[in-house]
Amino acid sequence: MENVIIIGTGAAGLTAAIYTARANLNPLVIEGREPGGQLTTTTDVENFPGFENGIMGPELMDIMRKQAARFGTRYQTGLVTDCDLKGDVKTLTLDSGESLETKSVIICTGASAKYLGLPSEQALIGYGVTSCATCDGAFYRDVPVAVVGGGDSAMEEATFLTRFASKVYLIHRREEFRASQIMIDRMLANEKIEVIYNTVVEDVLGVEEKSVRGLKLKNTQTGEQSELAVDGFFLAIGHKPNTDPFKGQLEMDDTGYLITDSTKTTIDGVFAAGDVQDSVYRQAISAAGTGCMAALEAERYLERTSHA
Ligand code: NAP
Repeated sequence: MENVIIIGTGAAGLTAAIYTARANLNPLVIEGREPGGQLTTTTDVENFPGFENGIMGPELMDIMRKQAARFGTRYQTGLVTDCDLKGDVKTLTLDSGESLETKSVIICTGASAKYLGLPSEQALIGYGVTSCATCDGAFYRDVPVAVVGGGDSAMEEATFLTRFASKVYLIHRREEFRASQIMIDRMLANEKIEVIYNTVVEDVLGVEEKSVRGLKLKNTQTGEQSELAVDGFFLAIGHKPNTDPFKGQLEMDDTGYLITDSTKTTIDGVFAAGDVQDSVYRQAISAAGTGCMAALEAERYLERTSHA
């Protein structure tokens, strides 16, 4: 029986691992499909404190992983496909069929940015295609970029990107935006933004050069195709929290994010940290912060229930 199983190896999961390992809880971390989480899909990280000159996302995650291992964290590869979280003994089932028993669980499965699913887009992730303006916007100084989406994220990211880019094209598949009016008004008032309505992205150009050089667009009303020269392509079509295995057990909001009080879920001994419970901030440093909080809360839970 484990003391604590941490599911996920992004900034939240690895921070929870560092804290629980240093508390001698001998944590087991389940490493899923995307070890290291979303940061492994970005290049330079300039906003994580402690790195004056920035650090590459994969390198940062590698350091966190080793830091957690140094205090005795154990890693196991697998996807949690099912679970029984009620009661003092929690059971997690992996895709291999193996069952694991634990006294507490910290869920750090993150959220995955939605992509259009175009092969060219997938090939250029990290090379001009990104889903995080806060992380990558500063790399696009004085060049044109495009954002796709019509919700609050798209409004926010397009507006934010005008700090750096020479021009921001906002591409939306419809005539009306889903975003809140205040965000729409702010976006529309920005002279650096040009909205391209009723348009979908059919292809991202630059696969051979390994660097985005433009987009192939199609007008949904007229069927007319065109090319748009941009150096960066920002996806803002929403995120999907990775909570499928916990459906029916833990309380979630309408979009699938786990509902937490601090990092406590609706079941005793089950905690959640990082993007899986945060649809607002979604930053590596905030994920790390909640990972720390979940670890401390798990530690207190184990002390209180005398299971440690
Ligand atoms: P969202 O509200 O779900 O909007 C997603 C947008 O992407 C929609 O406009 C949608 O178009 C478009 N879209 C989805 N799939 C697409 C596809 N395959 N091709 C082209 N376009 C596609 O997501 P979000 O903007 O990330 O916001 C998520 C939540 O966070 C919302 O509740 C939002 O209010 C909140 N949020 C708040 C703030 C803030 O208040 N500061 C900032 C960011 C996010 P359609 O409209 O045609 O469906």
